[in-house]
Amino acid sequence: MPFLSNRSNGDPGVNRLLATLPRNEYRRLLPKLKTVSLVLGDVLYEPGDVIKYVYFPNDSIISLISELSNTSWLEVGMVGNEGMAGLAVFMGVNSSSTRALVQGAGTAMRMSSAAVRTEANRLGSLHHLLHRYSHSLLAQVSQSSACNRFHFVDARLARWLLMTKDRLGAEEFPLTQEFLSNMLGVRREGVSKAAGALQAGKLIRYSRGVITILNRRGLEAKSCQCYSIIKGETDAYLN
Ligand SMILES: [Zn+2]
Repeated sequence: MPFLSNRSNGDPGVNRLLATLPRNEYRRLLPKLKTVSLVLGDVLYEPGDVIKYVYFPNDSIISLISELSNTSWLEVGMVGNEGMAGLAVFMGVNSSSTRALVQGAGTAMRMSSAAVRTEANRLGSLHHLLHRYSHSLLAQVSQSSACNRFHFVDARLARWLLMTKDRLGAEEFPLTQEFLSNMLGVRREGVSKAAGALQAGKLIRYSRGVITILNRRGLEAKSCQCYSIIKGETDAYLN
């Protein structure tokens, strides 16, 4: 029986991957898990850093960032309550290929990389779920990459805001234009224009670096289909 199965779908306060584990397996893992607070803007790993810990976000978000120069970087993946940051460890690699940046403050369950390796070698449910999560993250990264190349900025912004909202479980969160511009790989003027269009449609309010989602359905209608494709992949792997 899955642990907390009634809460595993849609409760932003619980990591859904851990919540999908059978109760006995979760209990065995519990002493190895520590609840930590992640602070907005913190860097958990830089590219090349040895990964000491993996993180299962509860209501925090970790962005996987690819840096091309000191001033140009792009979010290539997002890890929230559906997954785990530090997946390289499970793949048998010790170091991170991307920067892992806390994009949404909140809590996460932290586990040492050594413990993840030991658990994965048991070939139990965690091993199975991490395999499925690897596929889901790859699907997210591929879809986002195509989205960033082909879809309009306001549709991409709507997708990104929905993905963020789903993981934080909050209608309101701090967000600077500079940060958003790097997340989406768009100039600040482009972000400003797209946010202005969503605001004019009363889908969001954007004031003093805080985004408030006013109309979720409207935002879904504005987003490209990438949002539902990525959400579908995530929900499918957990079920
Ligand atoms: Zn798209």
